[in-house]
Amino acid sequence: MNLFGMQLDLFGNNADAPQEPAKPKVPASVSQNGLVHFKYNTQLKKSIRCKGGVLFGHPEVILPAYMKDPEFAPARELAAEWAEHAVRRKTAKNKAIIKDLVSRFWTLVEQILADRGDESLSSKGRLPPIKPQGKYHNLNDVLAAINSTYFEDKLTCRITWSNRVGGLSFHSVRQDPVTGEEFHLISISRGYDAANCPEYAVAGVVYHECLHIAIPVEVKNGRRIVHGRNFRRRERQYIYYDEWIQWHNHVLPQNIRKMRRHAEL
Ligand SMILES: [Zn+2]
Repeated sequence: MNLFGMQLDLFGNNADAPQEPAKPKVPASVSQNGLVHFKYNTQLKKSIRCKGGVLFGHPEVILPAYMKDPEFAPARELAAEWAEHAVRRKTAKNKAIIKDLVSRFWTLVEQILADRGDESLSSKGRLPPIKPQGKYHNLNDVLAAINSTYFEDKLTCRITWSNRVGGLSFHSVRQDPVTGEEFHLISISRGYDAANCPEYAVAGVVYHECLHIAIPVEVKNGRRIVHGRNFRRRERQYIYYDEWIQWHNHVLPQNIRKMRRHAEL
């Protein structure tokens, strides 16, 4: 659907006169076809909601209050289109359309905000929720055991199950929003929080990420050495190293594939 084309038709502007850009007065309370109603909520910032069957079976969309401004008109049209799909049966095809519309909607919102010189909504730098308790493993317990066995309890860091679907475990430095203090955060792939994952495998990946804190990245001739010789030597000191690597290479990829299909682990 060409949103701007539709605007031109509806408001009788001449599409052949691009030197006079069409700036129709769009009411902020309804979509251009008049079928989807918009409501605004000051509590919302980065989410939109919809209610089905409000006007002759058409949905109502609840948008963040800042989207009432006229420059958000094209974004509201996408939201209306999204809501029409979101209230329908969730077939695989419909789900794909919904996902695409949501992503186009937020891309457009970011663009409109950037065009007005407003701050981006992106959550870069914000602290992710820290959730060490998984379904099968508690990462705080694993970390405590590794810390006392291999690091004389000297490592200070926090640990969480990762939110990323990609399946990688990683380590990052974060800032506590309250105290402003920096701390190390280890994020472990959810692929390890599985019924088929033995304790030695979780401990193996936690140990690996702990080593990244103990052995910082080395820069040699302009190259970053992340897993250098010393790192690999220390890594092999883990008592179940072979068993963990075996599990990591053979079972973890299967678990990640299951996660992508949203299957139980
Ligand atoms: Zn690593």
